Amino acid sequence: MSQSTKSPRRAATNLIHPAREVPRNFRSLAPGTERASTVLFDDVGKWNSRSGFNEAVYTYGTSGTPTTRDLQNRIAEWEGGYNAVLFPSGLAAVAYAFLPFVQPGDHVLVPSNVYEPVKTLANGLLKQMNVAVEQYDPMVGSGIATQIKSNTKIVWVETPGSITMEVSDLPAIAEAAHKAGALVAIDNTYSAGWYLRAFEKGADISVHALTKYPAGHSDLVMGSITTKDEATWRAVKNLALQTGQCVAPDDAYLVLRGLPTMPLRIKHTERVALDIANWLVAQSNVALVLHPALTQCPGHSIWKRDFTGATGVFSFVLRDEYGADAAARFIEALELFQIGASWGGVGSLALTYDLNMSRPNWPHKGALIRLNIGLEDESDLKEDLMRGFAAL
Ligand SMILES: *Cc1c(COP(=O)(O)O)cnc(C)c1O
Repeated sequence: MSQSTKSPRRAATNLIHPAREVPRNFRSLAPGTERASTVLFDDVGKWNSRSGFNEAVYTYGTSGTPTTRDLQNRIAEWEGGYNAVLFPSGLAAVAYAFLPFVQPGDHVLVPSNVYEPVKTLANGLLKQMNVAVEQYDPMVGSGIATQIKSNTKIVWVETPGSITMEVSDLPAIAEAAHKAGALVAIDNTYSAGWYLRAFEKGADISVHALTKYPAGHSDLVMGSITTKDEATWRAVKNLALQTGQCVAPDDAYLVLRGLPTMPLRIKHTERVALDIANWLVAQSNVALVLHPALTQCPGHSIWKRDFTGATGVFSFVLRDEYGADAAARFIEALELFQIGASWGGVGSLALTYDLNMSRPNWPHKGALIRLNIGLEDESDLKEDLMRGFAAL
């Protein structure tokens, strides 16, 4: 209600309902940060007809504010999807791409190179729900048909795999899954969907860790699910509303702030990462460079067919004689590349993973090192990696 018609109130009341109105005729290039638990309604009729599924209106903080809707709209627009739902982390978004679609007795397929916490979810909550999770070879292609059953509800794709970088044949996997009536969900975090049109390649659901390239500055965690059609979106939104999944508008603002520069950041790291990957190929202590744009990466030809670019995260494998201790010496000798999970921020990172534990039949004896290329000067990054090789 308008303040101007009111009679004078006492001081504490005026702190909540100020008598002086702030002019609203303000326009800025920055998106607004609009926070809310309570959302106000103009009249009782609008209150009585409220719905959390109607994105044209606002009902309560958990169902969104203009800031979070702005972000979800931009994600859905860049992916060409129906709409998106935001989650407080990438991992939460992963979980909510499974949960609305499975019941006890169902079956889902995940690639054996999947982002490790997905295996934890499979062995934890999904198992507790009596949902069977079966792994498949990320290079299986149309051969996945033999693993799809009548109760398979979700075929999960992560391409390239975030540590070992195999590029999966998403269109072939999607064709087999759709024939059996299963949904195809892709973890599209690698390129933030910028270089892979997930829905055109057969996915029904596209999941992002916005934590990575979209936010771009290593200062928040957030995730999103975009769906190809309305029915799938409603299923995700329904469970998100039931369980109060939402994100802080302040964090959403930070992602909105990162988005306009995302294509430039990706393009820059793409060039530098590919240059460093090629340089690593020529290093005598490197056995293999797992970068999708290199022919030696499993699935390179699929990457060439389906992706329009590569990003700044990739791995390399040291020669057989350099195991876990050598990888630790290499990484600890680096001054610019730091030790920490995630990617897509401005700072370069280096990590090693023990794949003999997590990947059955991993064929390489040498240690694997994964790099996230940040925005530091390229020559400094190469000199840093030389410190690593010197420490071997
Ligand atoms: C980081 C990541 C996630 C999870 O995102 P968080 O925001 O860190 O929870 C999921 N999938 C992939 C491939 C990732 O790299």
